[in-house]
Amino acid sequence: MMEELRCIGCGAVIQTEDKDALGYLPSGALKKKIENDEDLYCQRCFRLRHYNEIAPTALTDEDFLKLLEKIGKQNALVVNVVDIFDFNGSLIPNLHKLTGNNDLLMVANKRDILPKSLKVNKMTNWLKEQAAKSGLKPKEIRVVSAKNRDDVIDLMGTIEHYRKGRNVYVVGVTNVGKSTLINAIIKQASGSQDVITTSRFPGTTLDMIEIPLDAKTAIIDTPGIIHRGQMAHYLAPEDLKYVSPRKEIKPKTYQLNKGQTLFFGGLARFDFIEGEKQGFTGYFDNEINVHRTKLEGATELYEKHAGELLAPALVGAKMVRKEFKVAEKTDIVFSGLGWVRVPERAIVAAWVPEGVDVVKRKALI
Ligand code: GDP
Repeated sequence: MMEELRCIGCGAVIQTEDKDALGYLPSGALKKKIENDEDLYCQRCFRLRHYNEIAPTALTDEDFLKLLEKIGKQNALVVNVVDIFDFNGSLIPNLHKLTGNNDLLMVANKRDILPKSLKVNKMTNWLKEQAAKSGLKPKEIRVVSAKNRDDVIDLMGTIEHYRKGRNVYVVGVTNVGKSTLINAIIKQASGSQDVITTSRFPGTTLDMIEIPLDAKTAIIDTPGIIHRGQMAHYLAPEDLKYVSPRKEIKPKTYQLNKGQTLFFGGLARFDFIEGEKQGFTGYFDNEINVHRTKLEGATELYEKHAGELLAPALVGAKMVRKEFKVAEKTDIVFSGLGWVRVPERAIVAAWVPEGVDVVKRKALI
C-alpha cells in the first residue's frame, strides 16, 4: 500500500482528485516532487508561501467542533493560544465544555505588540479575569511572543511541567499566531525552520500536525477555528497588516469634547456623545490613519470619502452602530483592529462593518 503523503505546510493528506478539497496537488506536480525528492506542499500552501494568495478553507465549523470533542475524550493537556491584541476575538465558544476535564494552559501571544510599559503581571491578572468570565479556568496563563526565542523556550518548559507525560493539544482561533508559535517550538526542538505554513491570512492551518515529544506522546497542532466576528475575515489581503501589527503599538490620546468623532481608517468609527471633555486613547496599528471630525456630519463624511480620505475601508459594507454607557476606565474594542480607552463617565458609540464584533471590557491599560 502507498504510504499516506501529507503536506508539510498544513498537514492535510495529499490528494490529486478534488482541487477544491484539502491537500490538493495536481498529479503531475506530485510525481515531479516525488522524483526529485522535494518537500511536499499542497497547492494551497505552495501558493500561500510563494505568492501570498488567499484560498478559502474547506473545514466547516462543525468539523472544528467534532475535533474539539475528540480532544475532550482524551486525557491530555490543552494549550489554548490567544492573541492579547484581540482577546475577545480569540475566544473559542464553549471551549470549557468541549475540552472536558483536561488541564488547560492559556498562552497569550503577541506581547511584543502591546506597549512595553505594560507589566506582564498586570496583563496576566487581567487575562485571568477575562478568562474566568468565559468559564475558563486555566492552570496558568503565559504571556509570550512567538517571535521571541526566550519566551518560546520558557513556554516549552511550562508545557513540559503541566503535560505530565500526556499528549498536548494546541487549539486556537485563526490568526492568533498558533502556527508561528508551533513553528518556533519545532525550530527549538529540532533545528528545522518554518515547516508549518504561517501567514497573515486567517484560516491557513488545516488538519492536524504532530510533533513527537517522546516515543509515545506528541504536541498536536489543530486547525484554527474561525471566529467570524474578527475584522480579519472582512479585509482585503493587502489590508490585513492593520489587524496584525508587526511593531509595538504607540497609543495615541485625543482630547475630545462631546459631539466629536474619530475615524480609524474607514474601518471603525468612535463617537463621543455625552460627558465631560476627556482624553480618549486609541490602541491601533501605528499605520492606521486617524481622522477627527464633528459627530454631526460624520455619516456624510463617511459616505463621501470611505476608501479615500477614510482608508482602508470596506466600501459598500453597511456600518453598524452600537452605543455604550461607560462608568469607569473602559475599553471599547473593535475586534482585531484595536480599541479606544474611555477614562471616565461617558456615552459613546462605536461603528464597524456589519458582522464585526464590538465589545466593552474593563480597561487593559
Ligand atoms: P494562526 O492562524 O493562528 O496559525 O496564525 P499565524 O501563525 O499564521 O499568524 C497570524 C499573523 O500573526 C501572522 O502575520 C504572524 O506573523 C503574526 N504573529 C504571530 N505571532 C506573533 C507575535 O508573537 N508577535 C507579532 N507581532 N505577530 C505575530
